[in-house]
Amino acid sequence: MQNKFEKKIDGVFIDPQIFTYPFVKACDVCICSGECCYYGVYTDLTEYEKIMSVRERIIKSMDDSQIKDVVEWFEEPEKDPDFDSGVAVGTEVYNGKCVFLDKQGFCTLQKIAMEDNEFKWKYKPLYCILFPLVIFEGVLTVDDEHLDRMHYCNKRENQVSTIFDCTKEELRYFFGEKGFEELLQYREECLSNLKKEEIKIETAK
Ligand code: SF4
Ligand code: SF4
Repeated sequence: MQNKFEKKIDGVFIDPQIFTYPFVKACDVCICSGECCYYGVYTDLTEYEKIMSVRERIIKSMDDSQIKDVVEWFEEPEKDPDFDSGVAVGTEVYNGKCVFLDKQGFCTLQKIAMEDNEFKWKYKPLYCILFPLVIFEGVLTVDDEHLDRMHYCNKRENQVSTIFDCTKEELRYFFGEKGFEELLQYREECLSNLKKEEIKIETAK
């Protein structure tokens, strides 16, 4: 698909606004209650299968605000080319939050991995890891539509950093070391072009 973005890393176009978009310094569910998880998420079919393979383990770590009937956990699968398998499966919302969000604002999928000394994102869907970034129509960009609903990280007075600075660990995980290095170089390029533009505007005044 043709789009306005020039840079591609590992088959994904990069929207330069990820480098400058204002954001909080770090996520803190004690402040935000994990409200980005109130609407559920689309998982890839393979992620759905991985989650279902540990359903008994998940149930053990759920609290009384969560539904333990696995039939209620996911929506019907649907075709979606932004997912590796070509099929997306949405998580359901229960008690006003994703079925996997506990009442303290923690994701049970991440919680069980940490409790079992596994890699923390072993069961967590990629789209949850990436938010406030998203891959939309082949472009890594800001999920501004979802971000607009947030009451903490979308408030100007709390945005003392950028999405890029807040999601370095996630981006390194997504692209791997080599891809992340390429992303860093591209960021330098973009920021230096921005600076040149600013100087041009200043001198034209
Ligand atoms: S993205 Fe926003 S709402 Fe979600 S955990 Fe981070 S600060 Fe909280
Ligand atoms: S799967 Fe976990 S991180 Fe993703 S929306 Fe649900 S609770 Fe949040």
